[in-house]
Amino acid sequence: MGRARSDLGEGMSIVDLVHLSRSYGSDPEWVLAGGGNTSYKDDALLYIKASGFPLATITEAGFARMDRQSLQRIWDASYPRETQEREAAALADLMAARVAGEEKRPSVETLMHELFPYALVVHTHPALVNGLTCSHDGEAACRRLFGDDALWVPAIEPGYVLAQAMHTAAASYAERHGHAPRIAILQNHGLVVAADTGDEIDRLQRHVVDTVRRELAREPDMSVRLMDAELGSWVNRTRQAITAAIDATTDTEDVVFGTCPEVAARLESRSTFAPLAGAFTPDHIVYSGSMPLWIDDESDLDATLPAAIARYRDEYRVDPRIIAVRRRGVFAVAGSKSGSQTAYELFLDQVKIAAYAEAFGGARHLDPHLVAFIESWEVERYRKKMSTGGQ
Ligand SMILES: [Zn+2]
Repeated sequence: MGRARSDLGEGMSIVDLVHLSRSYGSDPEWVLAGGGNTSYKDDALLYIKASGFPLATITEAGFARMDRQSLQRIWDASYPRETQEREAAALADLMAARVAGEEKRPSVETLMHELFPYALVVHTHPALVNGLTCSHDGEAACRRLFGDDALWVPAIEPGYVLAQAMHTAAASYAERHGHAPRIAILQNHGLVVAADTGDEIDRLQRHVVDTVRRELAREPDMSVRLMDAELGSWVNRTRQAITAAIDATTDTEDVVFGTCPEVAARLESRSTFAPLAGAFTPDHIVYSGSMPLWIDDESDLDATLPAAIARYRDEYRVDPRIIAVRRRGVFAVAGSKSGSQTAYELFLDQVKIAAYAEAFGGARHLDPHLVAFIESWEVERYRKKMSTGGQ
């Protein structure tokens, strides 16, 4: 795509990739939970973050080595039309593109990295950028703010289908501009930045974030406040009721509670909460669930909560991970204390995105058909399993 490939990665090495990955991976502005992935490529091999290795602490051993020729054959492969068969076939080819002896599981977004003909690719899901990608005017704002510097990618099934769509869009971008895109902004998903040096990656990332930040009307107040005694005892009682109603939770300590001024403002009523009643990106579905349970009346929860949870279970076929109680706060419950903390962290990420999206015409959730796809996506289930410590 518009460049000689013989010098790809020259002067850079996987050491640069490790450095870059740790620096972005340890900054919550850029990376939460298992989200985000990075890669380095030379002419023959792509080194891609493997599933189960957090970027913040990753070493060279956390990257899966992929044969680029095998990856490129996937662009022209024909797969079954039926969704599950197609995903299984594409996944099998992805696994087969590992170099001999490589046993780690490459990121589900590996193909997306392959299509950028630059040595380094950093893909993240930052809340600030997702304020733009998860908004009604996101596409127009992307065009207005970044013009031809960024490729806008409409929301589509993640994984193979997304990579194919980006491959086609990037090829026509390269035809128009004489070089492949260095910035891609993915609707209801996140950001991809690609370059031949770490310094250039840093510059592009800063450019995107600074440009979006200048558009914001306000910064949400996420500061944590101390609970008073009355709230504290109400929280403890409600934790017990939640633990009793949700089988997967056996210890009240596994249920996390939180609030902050921005969350409190959302909890005023069902309508102020509406921007949070749905998932913004695949990360939110994976860690916080597709839909929070809204509790309108905080009184007598010991008696009413079991029925509310049972109704939720009937409707969504899973237990709620986020329980939002009007004018009180938010409970996260996801099997273990660390799982609940991650669920709450991703809920707060949604809260920030909803606030940032106000600058771009208001929040826009993932379409229901994409939510359904992601919920049933085998690869995402695997990622969730890895992130909660399963192997
Ligand atoms: Zn992603």
